[in-house]
Amino acid sequence: MNAIQFQKDLKAYANLAIKLGLNIQPGDWLSLTINIHQAALAHLLVDAAYQAGARKVIVQWQDDVLQRLDLTYQSDADLQTSLAYQEELLQFIATEHVKRLVVVSTDPAALKDIPAEKIAAYQQRESKGLTAVRDATQNNQLSWLIIAAASPAWAQKVFPKLEATAATDQLWQAIFKANRIDQDDPIAAWQQHRDELSARADFLNRYQFDALHYQAPGTDLTIGLPQNHVWEAAGATNTQGDYFIPNMPTEEVFTAPDWLRVDGTVRSTKPLSYGGNVLSGLQLTFKNGEVIAATAEQGQATLDHLLATDEGARHLGEVALVPDQSPISQSGLIFYNTLFDENASDHLALGAAYPFSVKNGTTMNKLQLQKAGLNVSQVHVDFMVGSAAMAIDGLTKDGETIPLFRKGNWVK
Ligand code: ZN
Ligand code: ZN
Repeated sequence: MNAIQFQKDLKAYANLAIKLGLNIQPGDWLSLTINIHQAALAHLLVDAAYQAGARKVIVQWQDDVLQRLDLTYQSDADLQTSLAYQEELLQFIATEHVKRLVVVSTDPAALKDIPAEKIAAYQQRESKGLTAVRDATQNNQLSWLIIAAASPAWAQKVFPKLEATAATDQLWQAIFKANRIDQDDPIAAWQQHRDELSARADFLNRYQFDALHYQAPGTDLTIGLPQNHVWEAAGATNTQGDYFIPNMPTEEVFTAPDWLRVDGTVRSTKPLSYGGNVLSGLQLTFKNGEVIAATAEQGQATLDHLLATDEGARHLGEVALVPDQSPISQSGLIFYNTLFDENASDHLALGAAYPFSVKNGTTMNKLQLQKAGLNVSQVHVDFMVGSAAMAIDGLTKDGETIPLFRKGNWVK
């Protein structure tokens, strides 16, 4: 890829994220979390944000090497304790409705060989410290967006046969393509795509299915849907009325399952990266919404730790439909990154449901959410279950069966 074209694409990508994705308005605060390897993109994002009128961009740099050193040398007790200034910043982000942009580019194997207990201790602290921000995020009290950037370590995982520079180049091309940066007017292309997804969500909302039935090799699963569930796609509106797109790319239409009405067995179809470890070949059996048996071909210890996080970690919090013919699926790549892989495939999530997945959910407390059928947890981990063999039916309250997916794609 020539350097001039790359700069042009990177700038278009930054503009798309700030203008359409986060929809930065004059006077907005912005928190940007980004890896030190992505300084060029960080500069373009900050520039675009100030040009859109942002009041201040707070940049929070991430560094895989420093994180690994903390995990190697800090005591378990210190790993579990967060410092006052860290908590204060997170509280500020939550209460001031600071818009959040997270750029993911981490090495999927960054924490390889660090004991699972250490990672769990650290993640519990992160998770606890982030409670206020996570709640504000999940309730759409602030606008948020996750995008990706290619790093050499990640790129070589995706393209193991290429050397670092060529692999990084290829991964950037894949990211740009998935985000429609190759189109003449990426923002206009995105607006059209967003409208198509919204039409799917409207169709599902009109039906208000009682349950979905999934069938594929290794999968026979019935997922109950709560009363007044809401299917969402692409865009969202924060509680101040600002429109935003939480994930770029996005191909999914999703809602929350009834956390106590999931029965049967499901097999994952793609690897996923959780806490720096790769998990693959999951086989989960559910009874009354709870995981009663769980095996992984790779990452059993990580899976066990995940399921032991809290009660909600053993229940589902998201059900998302993605056609097998999505551009990401058609690329044939496994990205080892949920942002992409979840958009290649139908997926489910262990852990917290998004409160907006039921009517008036954002005004409910935890107990009310559970009563409404929504799962509550400190974690939210997506795993992919879709494939070209997937069939999904919608089951209505009157006992009607409506085919939704056949051979991995929408029926109509
Ligand atoms: Zn999803
Ligand atoms: Zn999810």
